[in-house]
Amino acid sequence: MSVLPDDWALPALDARNERWFTSQSIAVQRCSGCATRQHPPEEICHRCGASSFDHDVLAPTGTVFSFTVAHYAVNRALADSVPYAVVLVSLDEDPAVRVVGNLPGVPCEDIRIGMAVEAYWEERTAEDGTVIHLPQWRLR
Ligand SMILES: [Zn+2]
Repeated sequence: MSVLPDDWALPALDARNERWFTSQSIAVQRCSGCATRQHPPEEICHRCGASSFDHDVLAPTGTVFSFTVAHYAVNRALADSVPYAVVLVSLDEDPAVRVVGNLPGVPCEDIRIGMAVEAYWEERTAEDGTVIHLPQWRLR
């Protein structure tokens, strides 16, 4: 029950995103200068411009802030997945932080803004053996 096929390209890891894709936690970047959390991880704080960060591990729960449904497979590899939903989840511990993912297992016509969801992780192994955990969402 996965939107992305097993051979889908995996994200390239770097110092900023490695924790997000490998820790199996909602590890969100927090600015060392102003304590603002932001996601996805970036080089510069979008609030104060600082470039030093720590991470906060937040509860893996949130609500659907918005969503869209893809009916057309922009890539042939997604042909078996359409229609599928892409959800934007607002985290319970910091609603200003929003995370993109899928909500497999829920018919697209049943998805509503405000639905309570929790994260789970899809495990994939990159060609170099690195194990990547892709955050996804399910109803709670
Ligand atoms: Zn900042």
